[in-house]
Amino acid sequence: MAAARTVAFHTLGCKLNFSETSAISRLLENEGFEKKDFDDQADVYVINTCSVTDNADKECRHLVRRIQRQAPASLVVITGCYAQLKPQEIAGIPGVDLVLGAAEKFNIAQHLRELSKGDSAKICSCDIDTVNHFNASFSIDDRTRTFLKVQDGCDYSCSFCTIPMARGKSRSDTIANVVKNAEQIAARGTKEIVLTGVNLGDFGIAPGNDQQNGGRRTENFLQLVEALDKANGPERYRISSIEPNLLTNEVIECVAASRHFMPHFHIPLQSGSNKILRLMRRRYQRELYADRVQLIKRLMPHCAIGVDVIVGFPGETEEDFRETFDFLHSLDISYLHVFTYSERDNTPALDLKPVVPVHTRHERNKALRNLSWMKMQYFTQQHAGQIRKVLFEINVKNNVIEGYTDNYIRVTTPYRPEWVNKVIDWTL
Ligand code: SF4
Repeated sequence: MAAARTVAFHTLGCKLNFSETSAISRLLENEGFEKKDFDDQADVYVINTCSVTDNADKECRHLVRRIQRQAPASLVVITGCYAQLKPQEIAGIPGVDLVLGAAEKFNIAQHLRELSKGDSAKICSCDIDTVNHFNASFSIDDRTRTFLKVQDGCDYSCSFCTIPMARGKSRSDTIANVVKNAEQIAARGTKEIVLTGVNLGDFGIAPGNDQQNGGRRTENFLQLVEALDKANGPERYRISSIEPNLLTNEVIECVAASRHFMPHFHIPLQSGSNKILRLMRRRYQRELYADRVQLIKRLMPHCAIGVDVIVGFPGETEEDFRETFDFLHSLDISYLHVFTYSERDNTPALDLKPVVPVHTRHERNKALRNLSWMKMQYFTQQHAGQIRKVLFEINVKNNVIEGYTDNYIRVTTPYRPEWVNKVIDWTL
């Protein structure tokens, strides 16, 4: 009998990419492939790229060079958002054998059957407008928490963003299928599922073509949350990130009344200046955001709220930035994820002036990271002495394990094997 072919993966970017890498890996394991670590020798290496990562190109080249040193005869496959956006550029990287766009990444097994090491890379990619199917994906066995993809693509057109070009139109799994997956994941012992999507709040648009209702809304996010709350799923759910205009009062109320949905929201703000929000083509103003935070904290005073914010967007003056800083300072939020604006090809933001000098972008990033640190300290101190439920994770580093409370406060403690993947009452 021939030895099993081996495959190793490397994922760049977001939770969605992690869930998809995991699904692709299971798919290949079902085809008889044996999974290896990326540092090990393998017959095939798959890199799942991201378009949001700065220097995606550089990172990709670096990884391919590493593979060539490690296993020069192996096949190298590049997929993911960057592969969809810049297939030619990636195909030009010496050592790459196959570039798979958005429509093809889940057909990888078939492509590998036909692939041999050659001089030039094969590109299998199509126009993103024709990508309309939905592939359910989830990560499992990799983490105590499972990322479950329930939605893909985005119909918004934020002026800085390439994701709609890389992932196509908004489309979702069905509630029935998500519930089935959640129950199966829970049955395998996973305690927490993180619902992920590109524009999660837009959940409910059917994939496929017209005859199959494709492109039409058949369900919505509130119905999904209600159904999961009643299902025989895991102890805990988290909502990964949701646009403020789609985080309705009903969703907030449902989470507040739920035993399974954790008191934790991650809500992108991007800017605290209405002028900049307009230039970004976001679909809300700061007043709506403040209302959302207020309602959440009124119903769940202990709720964690994380905020994405972009600094240095074109046209952002010192005054606009100050407005963002003061707004964030005034909000009852727990932490920030700060992104420094960087130019992306084919986005409308490229035409906006004046461009903010790079060193100013970095200064603003630093100021907000300091604010984030203070917010997190304050949030943690507010809960000092309280008993909260902590889910300890599988990863052990230097004999220490970590876990998160229901409201996303990180806890570390010396390794206790009996606590791994357990929810423990913990005094903060
Ligand atoms: S909502 Fe805006 S930022 Fe988010 S994926 Fe869609 S276009 Fe990009």
